[in-house]
Parts: sequence; C-alpha cells; structure tokens
Amino acid sequence: MKSNKIKKTKIIATIGPASNKYEIIKKMILNGVNLCRINFSHTNHEEADKIISKIKKVNEETGHKTAILGDLQGPKLRIGKVEKKTILKSGSKIYLTNKKCISTSKKIFVNYSRLNFDLNINDKVLIDDGKIRLKVLSVNKSSITCEVINGGEISSNKGVNLPTSKLSLKSITTKDKRDLNFLIKKNVDWVALSFVQTSKDIIDLRKLITNKKSSIKIIAKIEKPQAIKNIKSITRSTDAIMIARGDLGIEIPMQKVPIYQKKIITLCLNYSKPVVVATQLMEGMIFNSMTTRAETNDVANAVFDGADALMLSGETAIGKYPIKVVRAMSKIILSVENSDFKLNENIKPPEKKSNNRYISESICYYACKLADQSQAKAIITLTASGYNAQKICSNRPEAFIYVFTHNKKILNTLSLLKGVYTFHYNKFNSTDETIKDLHKFLIKRKLIKSGDTVVNIGSMPIKEKGMTNMLKLNTVI
Ligand code: PGA
Ligand code: MN
Repeated sequence: MKSNKIKKTKIIATIGPASNKYEIIKKMILNGVNLCRINFSHTNHEEADKIISKIKKVNEETGHKTAILGDLQGPKLRIGKVEKKTILKSGSKIYLTNKKCISTSKKIFVNYSRLNFDLNINDKVLIDDGKIRLKVLSVNKSSITCEVINGGEISSNKGVNLPTSKLSLKSITTKDKRDLNFLIKKNVDWVALSFVQTSKDIIDLRKLITNKKSSIKIIAKIEKPQAIKNIKSITRSTDAIMIARGDLGIEIPMQKVPIYQKKIITLCLNYSKPVVVATQLMEGMIFNSMTTRAETNDVANAVFDGADALMLSGETAIGKYPIKVVRAMSKIILSVENSDFKLNENIKPPEKKSNNRYISESICYYACKLADQSQAKAIITLTASGYNAQKICSNRPEAFIYVFTHNKKILNTLSLLKGVYTFHYNKFNSTDETIKDLHKFLIKRKLIKSGDTVVNIGSMPIKEKGMTNMLKLNTVI
C-alpha cells in the first residue's frame, strides 16, 4: 500500500462570509486547498479585493502556490420581490412578465427582457432549484401564460432555469464585463464563465481578455443542455471545464448528471484539458461536523473518475465548518489515491498524422508509460508555457509531476492540475547539469530521495523556449 501524504487531486474552496478571514484562509490552504474561488454572484469588488490580498499574503508566507479563480455570474435569471406567503397551486394558471412588479400567486416577474422572444409553447420554466415547475401554455407581447405543474411556496430572488429554451441573452453580461476587468486588474489566474451555451461564448470571453493583454485562463461551466450538446467545441476552445452539477441537475434530469460527469471527464482527458467537479460534494457539512457515507462516496468516485479538482461551494462559503470540510475532503482524496484499486483509463497515444506537436506529445505520453512501468516517484518537466505539464497530467500517470518554469505567470495557474506541483527556475545550463540541479532541489524538499526512479523531460538543448524532445529515465543519486 502506498502512503503519499501529498494529494494529487486538487481542492477549490469558495471564499465567503464563513471563510474570508486571513487565519481561516491560511488554515484551509495548509489543509489542502489549492485554489480559492470568489463567486461574483455574491461578492462585490471591495470584498473580493480584501480576499485576494489575504490569499496572496498566505502564499508569500507559506510558499504555497494557491491560485485565485473568479467566477462570473453569467446570465442567471431570477424572479424579483415576492409577496409574503405566495403559494403556487399545482394545476393553476399564472402569468410571467418582464415588467418589474411585486410577484403574487397570479403574476411573476422574471428579470429577463427577452422572455417573450425566447419562450415557446410547451417550454419548461423552473423556479428555485427546480422545486417549482411551470409549463408554457401561450406567449404574447406583454405576458406569458403558464400552467403550474409542480406547485409550492415561492420567495423573493429565487433562480429561474429555462432548460428547453435557447437564450438569446448574451452569455457575458455588463456585470460580468465589469467583474472581468476587475479580475484582470487584480492579475488572478482563472476566470469561470457560467451558463456557457456554445464555443462562441468562450471565444468572446477570450477576446475581452486578450484585448486587455491579459493571460487569465478560462473555465467553462457546463450547466446547460446546450453546453452538453456543444461539449466538444467548448472543450476545444476553453482552458478548463467545470461540471457545475448545481444548475446542470436542474436543467437536465438529475439522474443523468453522474453519466455526464464520467463522459465529460473522459472527454477532457482526451482533449488534455483540466476538469473540475463542482457542487454538493459535501453539502451536509454546511451544518454538520461530519460527512454522510453518500457524500464520502461521491467525493471518492469523483477522484476515481479522474477529475483534476473538486470544488466546495456553500461548504466553505457559508458553512459552519470551513476548515474541517477541507480536512475531510483531503482525507478521502488521499485514501483513494493511496489505494491499489484503479479504474481503467484508456488514453490513446498521439497520432502522427498532421500533428505538428507529435514529438512533444509522444514524449509526454511515453514519459507516463515509462514512469508507470518503472514505478517512478516523479516526472520532472521543464516548461515555458505549461504545455508539457498539461499533456503529462492528462495521461494521468501514477507519479507526481514536478514542473520547473521561469514563467512566473503559470506557477499558480497550474495548481488546478491533478498531481502537478510547480517551482520557479530560471537557470539555463547544460542538460546534465540541469537534471542534477533539479534532483538536488527536490531532494532538499523531501519530494524525492536517493535511489528513487524518476523521469525527466524537457527540450534539448535547454533554452528559454523549445519543444519538448528529451526523455530520460534516471535513478536519483
Ligand atoms: P454556481 O455554479 O455555484 O455559480 O451556481 C455551480 C453549479 O451550478 O453547480
Ligand atoms: Mn451554476
């Protein structure tokens, strides 16, 4: 039985009122958090600014490479203010309107101006996490008539999901643009976009980012059936994917979410893109000091599925036990990673045909094969862009991946990737000398030891930028 103390699967913690103190952030990071998420549905710039400073200070103090992820709200639809004790009766008729008013059991306001254009007869309207279900009976210029299929009490500001309609609403709202500019100014590592529908949403976001000369990386949140339909092109155009099970489980039948979780992770591994599993992993720990067996299994299974990172939302943002929940999640992750049971991962070698990265991709693929076969402790890479780290990582080798780079921009960004730990390195010596130097560096930090088998990859001759073309299997002296 292996007994690594360092986990490979990363943890993202949402920072909120329960965790925005310096000491709590520090303890969460020391207990296994690798990325901190700021949710712009609930956080303003002033609060976000303070959180970012605290994370940066913890990194400086501890040497951790915690990345910062800003999550843009996207086109989240909501109902407005609702009269007290408003109950929608199953079987009754109600009207939806885009004209602001206090909602009642007869008429409900939705904050979406194009409601009348995007809804069609028989479309579904879901309110409050899908607890209330309506069916559209007719649409006219001023209002929409619906039948209440699943009734219940509604209260102010609850979310609205329209799973059967293609929204003409822009995926990047005016608020998102303001939040994005803030994140770019603050030099954060990742930005997540909610309710992505097509790859154009990602391309548009990328344009806004490059126009500001930023290299902030994009996570596409998969939470709409339209995104599932376009998953291949979205995965190709984004830097990472999040399986946002909260809204996804409302927009598609909940029992299909586990299937898509496996399918999307497999696709991301094939496309070499990092993938996050998010929402309700340890939901019960918002109130309870222990997880349920079911939650423990869910976390473990997400690790077995091959996710790069698992995300905590309410658990750390508003929960009673922000540090305990991180510790509990780390324990489950380590238990799976140190077990001898593995699900089959069927990752194919790169094809030579019309692939100008064939050499580096082959080196990365066979470095992993060689590392697994020789039970290597580490795959050690030199990279300028992080490309070979991402390629190695997506082959899911058993070994840890230690990434050396002179590019300070990617040091924290790569914290999202499974098994990847980064170090700043800016010497350019001969290949032999560099390999010796890197081994010395890792021995000093007790990450490898004399007698261990390790694999080194990089470009030869070593220079600032170069294609990965060198693979060396060594015994550490
Ligand atoms: P949210 O996204 O927390 O921003 O809604 C995650 C999800 O829907 O799962
Ligand atoms: Mn969501």
